[in-house]
Amino acid sequence: MNFELSDDQSAIARAVGDICARFGDDYWLRKDREGGFPEDFYRAIAEAGWLGIAMPTEYGGAGLGIAEAALMMETISASGAGFSGASAVHMNVFGLHPVVVFASDEQKRRWLPPIIQGETKACFGVTEPDAGLNTLKLKTTATRHGDHYVVKGQKIWISTAQVAQKILLLARTAPVGSGKPSHGLSLFYTDLDRSKVEIREIEKHGRKAVDSNQLFIDGLIVPEADRIGEEGRGFEYILHGMNPERVLISAEAIGLGRAALAKAAAYAGQRMVFDRPIGQNQGIQHPLAERWVDLEAGTLLYQRAAWLYDQHKPCGAEANAAKFFCAEAGYRACETAVLTHGGMGYAKEYHVERYLREAMLPRIAPVTPQLILSFIAERVLHLPKSY
Ligand SMILES: Cc1cc2nc3c(=O)[nH]c(=O)nc-3n(C[C@H](O)[C@H](O)[C@H](O)COP(=O)(O)OP(=O)(O)OC[C@H]3O[C@@H](n4cnc5c(N)ncnc54)[C@H](O)[C@@H]3O)c2cc1C
Repeated sequence: MNFELSDDQSAIARAVGDICARFGDDYWLRKDREGGFPEDFYRAIAEAGWLGIAMPTEYGGAGLGIAEAALMMETISASGAGFSGASAVHMNVFGLHPVVVFASDEQKRRWLPPIIQGETKACFGVTEPDAGLNTLKLKTTATRHGDHYVVKGQKIWISTAQVAQKILLLARTAPVGSGKPSHGLSLFYTDLDRSKVEIREIEKHGRKAVDSNQLFIDGLIVPEADRIGEEGRGFEYILHGMNPERVLISAEAIGLGRAALAKAAAYAGQRMVFDRPIGQNQGIQHPLAERWVDLEAGTLLYQRAAWLYDQHKPCGAEANAAKFFCAEAGYRACETAVLTHGGMGYAKEYHVERYLREAMLPRIAPVTPQLILSFIAERVLHLPKSY
């Protein structure tokens, strides 16, 4: 067992950290106030070649593993960019995993280089207002007409749709009840044609810089050449990417927690009340120390899940456990950071209230704590399926 980062991994963290250092607290505070995609940050990461960290080398990527991608995402988030920074690049870094694994060579040649170079932005179109977490009940239909499909339906919470040129879209090609439940959905990667898709931004709790949206799709034409793999197997293709995605979200949550803890420790060291730094009081020290322990434990969980995935070993339980624990650990660190700052924790200029708002996100998406615990109860503890 070797718990040390390799020289290459340390170099990745340093190089990504150097880019992030150009985008300080004031940049992210302004983005959080005003909104607007952090295009200059995105470009800086793209130009340095980091979007392709886990993409195959034959299409211009670096061909590294999820362990390295997670390290990069933790570094971005921990820089203070939080989920505003991480979500801006998340889709390019990993969202096209189903394309990497299941698309044809011709499709990969068409789609991967622009995503790796940052020329194309894509959004991930799965969640629907009526289906919720029950993805097998998606209602958006893709009806075949000769060499193309016509898509009709609604999606919700689709992040980056305001700026994306492409959408990875899961839609129904066979009605519910016609055969195996997991076999009615197909996966497409296609142009987000705004003449056929109305995109309405949702006003939300945090991460204003990276939009999330309702999509009203009416007659979107999708060429057959934009279907990934076989018709009807889209759900399976999406599932394949879920474990590594949980690892990346875990790393992003831990990074945010580390950013919050650093701010809180710095504040506790210099804020004088009762003629001493507040950080001299155990009532302030102990919660901060406990949060550090949480973040370290979460890091080990996600690194182990990443290692298993990169070794092509099963990692469902570990990736889910990491996502559950890291999201909670990140949130607790942000909450403690706000409380450590007293009244100033509530002021935007001290940044930790922004972190706390963002820390809700990895608890909810891409899957909720309840569903993760149900998965572990069923698959690890062999209890009856509850849903
Ligand atoms: C900021 C943000 C960005 C997002 N970005 C994207 C994106 O880019 N693309 C995309 O496709 N989606 C995206 N999502 C959607 C996200 O993945 C979903 O919100 C999430 O999966 C939860 O689904 P839901 O909101 O439909 O919750 P629901 O399914 O309505 O669930 C509501 C609550 O009920 C609980 N619940 C439901 N069924 C059970 C059960 N059987 N047992 C116990 N509890 C249960 C859930 O755990 C949850 O707490 C985003 C969400 C947010 C908030």
